[in-house]
Amino acid sequence: MNMNRKWIGVTLAGIVLVSGCNQQSAVSATKAKQTERQATDTDYIRQELKRADFIAAQYDYARAIRIVDRLKTTEAKQKRKEYAAKQANLGTIKAGTSVPHLFFHSLIAEPKRAFDGDRKQQGYDDYMVTQGEFERILNALYQRNYVLVRPTDLAVWKDGRMIEKGLPFPKGKKPLVLSQDDVNYYEYMTGDGFATTLKVKNGRITNSMAGKPDGAYDLVPIVDAFVNRHPDFSYHGAKGLLGITGYNGVLGYRSSYAQYGSSTKVEQARQQAKATATALKKDGWQFASHTYGHIAIGKVSLATIQTDTARYKRDVAPLIGTTRQLIYPFGSDIQNWHGYTGDKYRYLTQQGFRYFYNVDASQHAWKQLGKDYYRQARINVDGIRLRQALAKKTKVLDPFFDTKTVFDPMRPVVKKYSH
Ligand SMILES: [Zn+2]
Repeated sequence: MNMNRKWIGVTLAGIVLVSGCNQQSAVSATKAKQTERQATDTDYIRQELKRADFIAAQYDYARAIRIVDRLKTTEAKQKRKEYAAKQANLGTIKAGTSVPHLFFHSLIAEPKRAFDGDRKQQGYDDYMVTQGEFERILNALYQRNYVLVRPTDLAVWKDGRMIEKGLPFPKGKKPLVLSQDDVNYYEYMTGDGFATTLKVKNGRITNSMAGKPDGAYDLVPIVDAFVNRHPDFSYHGAKGLLGITGYNGVLGYRSSYAQYGSSTKVEQARQQAKATATALKKDGWQFASHTYGHIAIGKVSLATIQTDTARYKRDVAPLIGTTRQLIYPFGSDIQNWHGYTGDKYRYLTQQGFRYFYNVDASQHAWKQLGKDYYRQARINVDGIRLRQALAKKTKVLDPFFDTKTVFDPMRPVVKKYSH
């Protein structure tokens, strides 16, 4: 967006220059050039001030200060003072704090297509939330002072070991990690009311969806728009972690060699997937492996994990980049809460994985630091959990939102609870 604005500014200045040249005199040409430079400068300064304000709203005062320090105007000096005061007023999240982590699957954008009574309806009702539910959840999280952070802010891999870090953090705000699993727009979901790809259009990330204009039909562009409206919902630009498998391709593109063979079509899909992944990373999103074949790592043999990892490296890693983060499919962890040991642990860490995510909705937040890994539990926010909360069989969602007001009346099971 900033780039576009700058470009428009330059174009307007260009028009001034052209009208100046019509006078056919060297003097007016020079004047026009000065006007052009001033117009561009003023525009540039305004743009940079706006950018600094956005970054400061995300509590990254050091970076905002670096931007205004380059501008040297009175307003910029004023801004510097303002940012420095806010920076001095930050509180702290202590190193080793357990931070809650909520995860979602693809959002149901058109409930009547997902809940059409076919054999897939039950799965969608159990494991997905609707777009309406997700939007109400986001609002509630923001109103309850949650702020998105990256797990890689909480623990860092440094000098061959994992270290937990304290974070300068706004007082009264609470850190939260967000992730989405299976951002692949699987073949089986076609026609059931889901987006079909994530893609870059006019410099923005958006969804395509059959029979609809491109727009926000899934978590990523919805969170992007929300953070644009409420930059203070994101700590230093953090968005969320996207868990990616390989067998149906990546981000809605049928990019898998193993599944679709080698062809021009597959190469084209790979290019689109890669361009989208690059834009996502630039925009605050991170990627996690969710394995190539969505395998239950805790249950399968080490050999199966090795074969799957090799496929992931060939098919997926070149598109999304290498990642140190692993989201266990089915929440199938390699071990219980005791510190990791054994073959699978050794193999996965040798493959570069340092962050591991399982599923545990029994508590608000849980994490474990090992000497060479960081493990975090995630709460599944899905139909099963929402219904459980409605039936008052769990309180785990209560700190985040009020399930009664979030729950979508389009869900087929709502009748059970409404009378
Ligand atoms: Zn999954």
